[in-house]
Amino acid sequence: GTGARGQRSVLLEDVFIAVKSTRHFHRDRLALLLDTWISKTKEHTYIFTDSTDKEISSRGFHLIVTSCSPEHTREALSCKMAAEYDHFMASDKQWLCHVDDDNYLNPGALLSLLSEFPLDRDVYVGKPSLDRPIKAQELLPSNKTQDVQFWFATGGAGFCLNRKLAEKMAPWASGSRLEHTSAVIRLPDDCVIGFIVEKKLGVAMIHSQLFHSHLENLLQLTPSQILTQVTLSYGVLENKLNSVRLDGGFSTEEDPSRFKTLHCFLNPLTSWCPQA
Ligand code: UDP
Ligand code: MN
Repeated sequence: GTGARGQRSVLLEDVFIAVKSTRHFHRDRLALLLDTWISKTKEHTYIFTDSTDKEISSRGFHLIVTSCSPEHTREALSCKMAAEYDHFMASDKQWLCHVDDDNYLNPGALLSLLSEFPLDRDVYVGKPSLDRPIKAQELLPSNKTQDVQFWFATGGAGFCLNRKLAEKMAPWASGSRLEHTSAVIRLPDDCVIGFIVEKKLGVAMIHSQLFHSHLENLLQLTPSQILTQVTLSYGVLENKLNSVRLDGGFSTEEDPSRFKTLHCFLNPLTSWCPQA
């Protein structure tokens, strides 16, 4: 179809959805996503993890077992982001969208957002992590450092890049280069993407309020907003469970993340959803 400005709408098959996970989270976090939103995007969703899982791959999900270490270190996480970038570049898809394994991705909302962008634009879109650019020190080849400031999209809220921009990122992002770039600014993978896009390429990040991590208070979203966000999350914030507030079929004990409840609002005919 064609969008409001006469350009072609983005379709699910145009998007490479990369989900970052780790073996420790296959059974709880990932299983919830496979039963909910990934069941709708299965063919176009690639799960980047650190150990094989026969149960998941035998159900036809694309599981990409990286050789990255299963740790929460800067190196290990940059290694997974590098794998996401390289697999996307080797694909025939137009968009790379990254999420964590504690994100709900609403495919309809995602496609509407991506369809807004003119095809000739460089796109890096997500939720800014802070209310101001991050300050970092870039380690120069001379061993001196240089102060740099740039915006970046929180990895934990998800973000997207289009192919036009991703191709230009290759000198800093392909193969082992992303891990090297991460060492140059001594910051994690999501910051590295912002650094490459804004500082190396001079392209401004597009700030969107449609992406959400569990670092923000998710209780503030209204039910109608919840249904139209591109991503949501859940987690612990200030010792309390932070999740969206959505009343429906499942109790908070059965569905603490509220992802099942949300999924049933968006897809009421799903077999395991309570029937009205
Ligand atoms: N993760 C990982 N290896 C680890 C820990 C976490 O790949 O050792 C992944 C995890 O699956 C998730 C992301 O990194 O997709 C963020 O992890 P988490 O939500 O636990 O931490 P946060 O940074 O959000 O507090
Ligand atoms: Mn998280």
